[in-house]
Amino acid sequence: MSERADIASLTGEELTQVVLAMGQPSYRARQLADWLGKGIWDLQAMTNLPASFLKMLEEQTYLPRPVIERKLVSTDGTVKYLFRFADGELVETVLMNYRHGTSVCLSTQAGCRQGCAFCASTLGGLNRNLTASEILAQFFTAQRDSQCKISNIVLMGTGEPLDNFDHTVRFLQLVNAPQGPNIGMRHISLSTCGLVPQIRQLGEMGFPLTLSVSLHATTDELRDRLMPVNRKYPLPMLMQTCKEYFAKTGRRISIEYVMIKDMNVSKQDANRLLSLTEGFLSHINLIPVNYVEERGFHPPSEGEIKEFCELLRRKGAEVTVRRKLGNDINASCGQLRHSCQKEQKKG
Ligand code: SAH
Repeated sequence: MSERADIASLTGEELTQVVLAMGQPSYRARQLADWLGKGIWDLQAMTNLPASFLKMLEEQTYLPRPVIERKLVSTDGTVKYLFRFADGELVETVLMNYRHGTSVCLSTQAGCRQGCAFCASTLGGLNRNLTASEILAQFFTAQRDSQCKISNIVLMGTGEPLDNFDHTVRFLQLVNAPQGPNIGMRHISLSTCGLVPQIRQLGEMGFPLTLSVSLHATTDELRDRLMPVNRKYPLPMLMQTCKEYFAKTGRRISIEYVMIKDMNVSKQDANRLLSLTEGFLSHINLIPVNYVEERGFHPPSEGEIKEFCELLRRKGAEVTVRRKLGNDINASCGQLRHSCQKEQKKG
C-alpha cells in the first residue's frame, strides 16, 4: 500500500502534479479533486472520469475506505464507531449530537505511546500513525453513515495528535478547505498531553483552532506519575508554553482536567490549578475519570465534583464539568477498541 499514492491526503496543487504525471490533462485533477472533496472515495462512482484513467488510479493510488466493524448507539444519540482499515487497524470515532450541532471525535493514531496512567487508548502502545486521509475518512464515513451534517471536530480520540504532527496538520488543512468539508478552524479543537515543542510549532502556524491541554495534575510529582510526558516537559515549561501560545494566537486555551478520587481534587489542587492557569485566557473542563478496568481509577463523588468546580468558579475561573454523553456505550476514548482487541486475542 505504501508505494501507492495516498491521493486523498494531497492538497489541490499536489494532486494536480500527480495527475499530470499520470499523463492526464489538468482538468482531470479538478474532477478528481471534486469527488475527493465531497468524500466520495469510490472510483466506481466517479462517473465523469474515463475508464483508462480510473484503471490507472485503481493500480497506482490508495483511498482509505474503512469498514464499520462495530457501531454502538447510545440512548442519548451518541454514536460510537469502530472502523477497520485495510491493514486491519482498528480506530474509534464518536459522533455526538448537541443542541448546537453535531460534533465528531476523531482518532489520530492507531494506539498511543504516551502511557497516561488512566487511559485505555495507550494500553497496547502505538501501532502506527494515521495518515491525513485516514483521519478525514473517519469524518466522511461517520457523516455518511449517520446522515448528520457534522459542524464541529475534536481531535480527542485515540492517539496524540501532536505526536503525528504532519499528518494532523495536513488533515486540518484538508478538512478546512472550501472544496472539502469546509469546517472552520474555530469549530475544531485539538487536544494534547503537552508536547511542548509541537505546541510551539502549532502556535507558529497561527490556526484559529482551540488548543486543549490535558493537565490532570497540579504538581509535577503527581503529573510525573499520571502522565509520563511530564518527565520530559514539566509543568512550569508547559504553562509557559501555554502563555506563549495564547500571546501568539489570542485564542483561549481549554484546560482538560480529569478528576480522580482522592488524588487531584483537594482544595490545594484547586488553588494550584488557578495559579497554573494565570497569564493566559483559559476555560477549565472538568472530566470525572471514566473507570477503565485495567487502570482502577475512580471518579470523585458528585458532591466532591461540585465542590471542586464551585471553588474554582468562585475564584473567577471559567469552568464547566463535561457533560457525559454515551455513558452506556463505553464512549470514552480507547475503550471500545481495547475491548475489541481483547476479544480478538481470546479468539
Ligand atoms: N492525546 C491527547 C488527546 C486524546 S485523549 C491528549 O492527551 O489530550 C482525550 C482526553 O481524554 C484527554 O484529556 C485524556 O487525558 C482524556 N482521558 C483519557 N482517559 C480517560 C479516562 N479514563 N477518563 C476520562 N478522560 C480520559
